[in-house]
Amino acid sequence: MELLKNRILKDAIVIGDSIVKVDSFLNHQLDIELFNEMGKEFKKRFSDENISRILTVEASGIAVACIAAQYFSVPVVFAKKYEALNLDSDTYQSEVYSFTKQKSYNIRVSKKYISPEDNVLIIDDFLANGKAASGLVDIVRQAGARVAGVGIVIEKGFQKGREALMQKGVRIESLAVIKSMKEGIIIFE
Ligand code: 5GP
Repeated sequence: MELLKNRILKDAIVIGDSIVKVDSFLNHQLDIELFNEMGKEFKKRFSDENISRILTVEASGIAVACIAAQYFSVPVVFAKKYEALNLDSDTYQSEVYSFTKQKSYNIRVSKKYISPEDNVLIIDDFLANGKAASGLVDIVRQAGARVAGVGIVIEKGFQKGREALMQKGVRIESLAVIKSMKEGIIIFE
């Protein structure tokens, strides 16, 4: 998606040789016009699927999932990372290792919000090693529902995420795929 790639080239900050900071339009301040275009693009790419729900994980996936959901006219469910008294006790759970935080955490979704008839589109902001997306795939499959695919805003193609998801037989659509970013210079596939 050219609009997104140009925005990454203009505003992304590369940290070390593997982290992309996009706080000015995706992770802290949100550029809603750009989000709308991303939502339309996800709808176009998954137009062959009858999506019934979008699933993401808090916090950074929620905004993009919500805007995309307007083009699919379906509800968004987000997996919770933190235990809370007000979360239903009957949940699907999966353990996820965080690449940016370098630690594992559990994600949970109430059994009320995914059912076996669902055809679920998983959406997230980044694909790195595929741990977050794999955890979400695991939850959809625990519910007996179908994974229609995974929609990603920025894939870091030099990490292992695509491979991990393909091994699970999951379709991946990324709006921008970074091939390399040596010495702070981003090159797309
Ligand atoms: P994975 O689970 O694929 O290893 O990592 C994906 C998750 O980690 C995403 O949900 C995203 O929040 C975070 N993440 C991974 N790499 C980056 C990055 O380079 N920049 C940002 N902003 N987040 C990242």
